[in-house]
Amino acid sequence: MKVAVFSAKPYDKEFLLKENNIENNIQFSFFEPHLSGDSIKLAEGHEGICVFVNDDLNRQIVEQLSSIGIKIIALRCAGFNNVDIKACNEHGIVVVRVPSYSPNAVAEHTVGLILTLNRKIHRAYNRVKENNFALDGLMGFDIYQKTIGIIGIGKIGKITAKILLGFGAKILYYDLHQDSECDSLGMRYSSLEEIYVQSNIISLHCPLTPSTKHIINEQAIDSMKQGVMLVNTSRGALIDTKAVIKGLKSLKIGYLALDVYEEEADLFFEDLSAKMINDEVFLRLLTFPNVLVTGHQAFFTQEALSQIAKTTIKNLSDFQSNKVLENKV
Ligand code: NAD
Repeated sequence: MKVAVFSAKPYDKEFLLKENNIENNIQFSFFEPHLSGDSIKLAEGHEGICVFVNDDLNRQIVEQLSSIGIKIIALRCAGFNNVDIKACNEHGIVVVRVPSYSPNAVAEHTVGLILTLNRKIHRAYNRVKENNFALDGLMGFDIYQKTIGIIGIGKIGKITAKILLGFGAKILYYDLHQDSECDSLGMRYSSLEEIYVQSNIISLHCPLTPSTKHIINEQAIDSMKQGVMLVNTSRGALIDTKAVIKGLKSLKIGYLALDVYEEEADLFFEDLSAKMINDEVFLRLLTFPNVLVTGHQAFFTQEALSQIAKTTIKNLSDFQSNKVLENKV
């Protein structure tokens, strides 16, 4: 089976080729552009496509994919908020994903962001490079005994919570369901409102759905503690960025760490250092000294890339052999 890989970076190619073998009978073609109306012609002559988080598979794109004979869409990620699943079902296109690759990778990055932002390690690094050893402006706070609210206690949220429990923090969590393992570890199932009111740090780990879009809005921010630290390594649109900027300006939000951004599709994963960025909201975010942004790299470990490649190849191989697709969306 021929599969066109979109948004293909050198590391995607390296890991997919390393994990593929001749018995799978899968031939990958690698294309750097995102999947779009302009690049869709690259998928011609293939039976499947393989895409990532910022490929927009809206109804129109799905219809075009169907018309050129695409039978399967293999996502190299867990989230599928960028795919019109209803349109895929209507056109008989199968969608498969990688539900879990390394929740540890994302959880560890989340904790890395919290520590960096709190202890200003990124600023200290730059100062020391210039022989500036002054500590003014670098003061942080102990995480020990602080209250941390986790929204979404799935695979990533739970590992993040467990790591933070090791710091001696009090963990409150909100999810659609109470979790007995978390309860037995001393974490407390709480309402969203309680999390907003009580937490010194709030970390988002729920998926992006119509009900979670802009879950962090002006009203939610108003009810948070003064100087709260907000962390988002899940999906950008969980946060209303304009409301967060307002919260940063009023000092209600004391710290903001983002690995994802609502309009990241035009920015992340590319080297734009020699280009003009036109996103005024994003540029405003970067002007705050208490905002730390990484470009959707929380997943980016060797273990995660290897697992993504293995599961993607298994998904495609199972489809080809008419086996039950355990990762079908
Ligand atoms: P998961 O499915 O294991 O957990 C998600 C949890 O969110 C579940 O427990 C679910 O019940 C809960 N949830 C669903 N709707 C909710 C709501 N309205 N309010 C509160 N909780 C709700 O998923 P996961 O593997 O832990 O991944 C979480 C998210 O992390 C993914 O959806 C994805 O968007 C994001 N992610 C980011 C990266 C990255 O590199 N930054 C990598 C992988 C995943």
